Amino acid sequence: MVVNKIKLKKVSAKRIGVAKKKAVKSERVSVARKPVEKSGGTKVKVRKAETAEARKPKVAIVSLTSCEGCQFVLLDLGQRFLDLTGQIELVDFRLLEDEEDPGGKLDLVLVEGNPVTKENEELLKKARQRAKILVAMGNCAAMGGIPEIKNYQEGANTIKHVYKYLQGINNPEIKELDNFVKVDFVFPGCPIDGEEFLKYIPELLKGNIPVIPDSPVCVECRKLGNRCLLLDKKPCFGPMILGGCNAVCPSSQMMCQGCRGLRPTGNVKAMRAALKNMMTDEEFENITEIYGLKDDLEEREKKQKTLEGA
Ligand code: SF4
Ligand code: SF4
Ligand code: SF4
Repeated sequence: MVVNKIKLKKVSAKRIGVAKKKAVKSERVSVARKPVEKSGGTKVKVRKAETAEARKPKVAIVSLTSCEGCQFVLLDLGQRFLDLTGQIELVDFRLLEDEEDPGGKLDLVLVEGNPVTKENEELLKKARQRAKILVAMGNCAAMGGIPEIKNYQEGANTIKHVYKYLQGINNPEIKELDNFVKVDFVFPGCPIDGEEFLKYIPELLKGNIPVIPDSPVCVECRKLGNRCLLLDKKPCFGPMILGGCNAVCPSSQMMCQGCRGLRPTGNVKAMRAALKNMMTDEEFENITEIYGLKDDLEEREKKQKTLEGA
């Protein structure tokens, strides 16, 4: 543990640059790790160091099958992320360190990506067993994300467009984390927002579950002085989507496609009706498939219908 901490403190900007050059990975399987040998120092000094270490929350950042974009958002925070690593005991974060995870209980686990393989699923379940708080980090983990498109488009047959020979190719349906384990909090977005990460991580480290305000993307969009796309009959999902991204898409004249997911009180029926004269039903559905919004919308519409019928 102590060795791990020292190594993390020594991580340089150069090291981050090297990490950034790592190729996009398709999956990650390892979790079992060797204990780290401690060396040097008197007995008293070692005990003091261990006591101080024990007060720091133990955190793991676990990557399943993903593009790793959400992890790179953390590295893009630069010194501010390194400062955070000084306040915690970071036992697993493959983009920064190669040390073995010593096992044991964890205060916080942040999980990126989809549990696609059996190994991913086992890693996720083990992480849940060890964690007081488990957080889904990003749209893939929380909503299925871009990989979930294949569930909608031809399902299992989509794979034939990618691989010439299908023998031995694992091709499961894509499911978000909460199909496998309890998720306590979500950092939404594709990728996550670095400022939002820094805003809520202190509460999570104290063992509390923060609540992201139920405010639409439109609030930030209007604050920025943007002209609403809807006024020009251009579609945008902003009113039903959870804000917090600083309306980055409409600020660049692009519609919000909903990567942060539905607001708890977003009126999806009204949104669909408002967009009727701006896009076809097929266009609407295709866009809701991009970030795994489609199944959440269907569920919300069902609930709304039940409530109206009650
Ligand atoms: S949410 Fe987006 S950025 Fe994050 S891992 Fe998934 S595809 Fe990559
Ligand atoms: S452009 Fe989109 S996000 Fe901005 S105010 Fe209009 S509907 Fe809302
Ligand atoms: S504007 Fe919409 S699609 Fe763009 S980042 Fe924000 S929530 Fe995601």
